[in-house]
Amino acid sequence: MVNPALQHPIFGPDIRCPHCRQTIPALTLTDTYLCTRHGAFEADPNTNTLVHLQSGRHWRQWEGEWYRQHTHPDGIRFEIHEALDRLYTEGYRATRVIIAERYKSLVSTYLERSTPWREPLESIAPQLYGLPVTFSPSAEQDPCWDVINFNLEKEPGVPIRYPYFRLFE
Ligand SMILES: [Zn+2]
Repeated sequence: MVNPALQHPIFGPDIRCPHCRQTIPALTLTDTYLCTRHGAFEADPNTNTLVHLQSGRHWRQWEGEWYRQHTHPDGIRFEIHEALDRLYTEGYRATRVIIAERYKSLVSTYLERSTPWREPLESIAPQLYGLPVTFSPSAEQDPCWDVINFNLEKEPGVPIRYPYFRLFE
């Protein structure tokens, strides 16, 4: 009898499309998942990565969520910008950005450094969108950092939308 697990790609008989979140099936006896809207995604068992064939975008999964793997600093900067927007809409403000250590060499040259003279450059924390940036622990210390891209530290800010429902509690 054939082990049924061997008939599926590494992510199982179906996945949620990283683009539209629809459940999409694996094609029989291949490593390919097919979304009717976004085309083929191929699972690479050697790197635990899902590749969108049309765009060449890479994704990895952590706790059921897909995380795009960036190869250009603009990609991760744009994703951080979107997350900051979302945080602000939810009534928080970010106080720090923690970027995955694996992106250190990719983003380092792009980070803004405020350079008050007389201070040696190394002692000044790099910044992104005016926020201090630090890098995560290594993936050996915490395996989530092999997949997720960044984290935002936040504190309550001024909510944009007044939470009217609280009036009736
Ligand atoms: Zn899709």
